[in-house]
Amino acid sequence: MNYILKNLLIVIAISLWGCANQTSNNVLKENKHEPNTYVVKNVNVIPMTESNFEVIKNASVVIKGQKIFSINGQTPSNSKVIDGTGKWLIPGLIDMHVHTNADLNFKGNSPTQGATFFMDTQDVMTTYIANGVTTIFELGGRVEHFGQRNEVAKGKVIGPRMAIAAMINGGDTNNGGRTVNNSSDAKQAVRSLKAEGYNFIKAYSDLNIEAFQAVVEEAQKQGLKVVGHIPDAFKGKTEEAFVPNFGLVAHAEEFSKQIRKQEKTKEDAERFAQLSKNNNTWLIPNLIAIVKIKEQVQSLDSISSMEALKYVHPLLQDKWLNSNNYHKHSSSEFLKYLNDLIVFHKEMVVAFKDAGVPMLAGSDAGVSGVVTGFALHDELELLVDAGLTTGEALTSATRLPAKWLEISEKVGTVEVGKYADLLLLDANPLSNIKNTRKINGVFVNGRWLNRDAINKMLSELADWNTLNKEVYKWKNRRKY
Ligand SMILES: [Zn+2]
Repeated sequence: MNYILKNLLIVIAISLWGCANQTSNNVLKENKHEPNTYVVKNVNVIPMTESNFEVIKNASVVIKGQKIFSINGQTPSNSKVIDGTGKWLIPGLIDMHVHTNADLNFKGNSPTQGATFFMDTQDVMTTYIANGVTTIFELGGRVEHFGQRNEVAKGKVIGPRMAIAAMINGGDTNNGGRTVNNSSDAKQAVRSLKAEGYNFIKAYSDLNIEAFQAVVEEAQKQGLKVVGHIPDAFKGKTEEAFVPNFGLVAHAEEFSKQIRKQEKTKEDAERFAQLSKNNNTWLIPNLIAIVKIKEQVQSLDSISSMEALKYVHPLLQDKWLNSNNYHKHSSSEFLKYLNDLIVFHKEMVVAFKDAGVPMLAGSDAGVSGVVTGFALHDELELLVDAGLTTGEALTSATRLPAKWLEISEKVGTVEVGKYADLLLLDANPLSNIKNTRKINGVFVNGRWLNRDAINKMLSELADWNTLNKEVYKWKNRRKY
């Protein structure tokens, strides 16, 4: 080895060592400054457990490290006190249907270039955390989402836990996701996705009957759960889609689209509820997306006047306002269709509730007008408006999604030993579901963010977005 090369290697080794050293120093620094034991005193706990749905009044809840250490038990002497008087502690919320922005490529691939358009992961995650959404189910999973999940796990970003589903579609390769049109390709796609690290498969609308059934069957063999659309190919024979391991329907709209006739009736809703019940298929009603779509079909003022718009990346603000496809296709027929859907989806919620089919709150955040984090509270309100009790709505965003995702032993309830993903609310969400918005503070994996910290995160995000409004235009996206 010549002298120069040897020295170069030493320099590289030192700089790598320097990086590693700096990172661990930061973690140490944080741990020094931030006490990692808290006690929330005199708080009303809504545990959301199946067996104990009652409120535990005037409780002391200790959070030590990442976990809930005790409820009305021992309090370590070094605990930092948070006054919970007149406040309510609930599990962190779970949004079961999101599309999270991540780095992407608008240009097409080159051997040395993956993404060309980059998003700051903290900025992407801030609206979830500010709204108490501490777990998300990403239904358009890409490799970039695995990167985001790692950034959160490393503690570099304060963000939610992420479950990630990969999409399998049929038809044309331009339809998005993996494309399969026969049984053997479908099975291979499932096996490949498992090898890539996915735990969930999202089946999509253009799959043919053979490919859809093969996806669901192979996923079961491989231990992966399937969430999905009901492919269009099942129109008129919806029951054939309800095969074992088709575990979750991603929108109530999937059922609406199965109806051939114009009129959708209560009987249709009851028939779908029974199909789902018999197959143990759960439902994400996803009411807010259609309401938001309807509003923007009517007028783009609904977008420009949105309080939460300033938290949306400027590229998407521009898309939603100036390249809005829903508004472009505005017509009285489209509006009538959407209004009918809104009515029918409420009937669906009632029918599924009556049939005892578990329902999970999911916003489809990422769709235009549906802002990550904020939209889950809208969804909860709509679920109550449709006929769920406040307790049932809360369950749909806490215990039940944790159960479907098979992370019940980690999150979803306020219990000793679970991860400290918690919301401290200023008012009781059981008396009014709107109170889930009255967030006093959030514990994210044991890390406490009070209202001031949340406001600071939000205002920094809004400031950056506003400052960069002229920089990002949707029509220029292929230039980025
Ligand atoms: Zn979606």
